[in-house]
Amino acid sequence: MRTVILNPDKNGIEEAAKLLKKGGVVAIPTETVYGLAADALNKEAVKNIFRAKGRPSDNPLIIHTYSLEAAKALVKRIPDKAKKLADKFWPGPLTMIMEKSDMVPKETSAGLDSIAIRVPACQTALDLMRSSELFLAAPSANISGKPSPTSAEHVINDMYGKVDGILKGEDCKVGIESTIISLLDDKVTLLRPGRITVEQLQEEVGAVIIDKAVEFKPDSTEKVLSPGMKYKHYSPDAKVILVKADKDKYINFVNSLKNGDEKVLSLCYEEEKEHINVNKLILGKSNDYEQMSKNLFAMLRKADDLKASTVYVHSPLAKGVGLALYNRLIRAAGFEVIDLEE
Ligand code: AMP
Ligand code: MG
Repeated sequence: MRTVILNPDKNGIEEAAKLLKKGGVVAIPTETVYGLAADALNKEAVKNIFRAKGRPSDNPLIIHTYSLEAAKALVKRIPDKAKKLADKFWPGPLTMIMEKSDMVPKETSAGLDSIAIRVPACQTALDLMRSSELFLAAPSANISGKPSPTSAEHVINDMYGKVDGILKGEDCKVGIESTIISLLDDKVTLLRPGRITVEQLQEEVGAVIIDKAVEFKPDSTEKVLSPGMKYKHYSPDAKVILVKADKDKYINFVNSLKNGDEKVLSLCYEEEKEHINVNKLILGKSNDYEQMSKNLFAMLRKADDLKASTVYVHSPLAKGVGLALYNRLIRAAGFEVIDLEE
């Protein structure tokens, strides 16, 4: 199909709004990752998102809007904790799951009675939602299962010819998907970690339950609260293996791998690079989680550009924003971990 590439100016936004109003699918920038947007209340448009991505139809979409006030139409009620968190973190990388109103078609919520909502902190996305007067369902704009796109170039690589439009913008400032919490039953449960950390949430609303699927492989017999968490995800074509180790052990381990014709790649920290003798990519400084978040998906995509067969990633510590990096990497690795810490 014909895909128009649009600039994030007045004309481009008007053009994108026109395509969306006609039920089209348009990739748009947000501060987390690029999204694949369509009118959230138009079920045919929503089906086109699933089609373009090859996304399983039981994996619900996040609806984006421009304010808490606008979000009210999408839900039965806004819990007090949601109001507090929206005041503090919206617009921003926090998605909240609440009981859905009848206005939202079941195609968008994948049959669930709840709906995930976010107000993104990206001016182009906000302008588009205001000018189109649409609620936008928008999952990440990658082929299902692949690393999320954090630049217009990534989106063009994955989606050109599969969607109606691509609205180009800057590289994503956050680089990993939003923190997702459920507020059903008035408890706060973390389903997907992101830039907004558990500690930041606790400061506002007290206790936060961390769903097991955040760090651990879901048991196939258990009900998964967030359907997306049961899929292998964020994976390049190269095999990803997560290595838990301190600096010296990690360096010794990857240096011992230089064997045969296997295209081994190390995804390491800045401080380690000069000690590593195999091909390498740099995630960032070991204490700079913001930089690492920004780089993560671009580096996983780069591993494929370099035709690596296996990427050995030095695992970040699973705390603070590191929990979000760990959550993505453990899925990219299909839960394959080499633990040298014991
Ligand atoms: P994506 O937009 O591709 O980054 O993925 C959105 C994530 O939100 C997926 O993991 C979904 O399973 C999750 N999600 C969306 N809506 C709901 C909901 N109503 N309940 C639980 N998880 C949800
Ligand atoms: Mg995604």
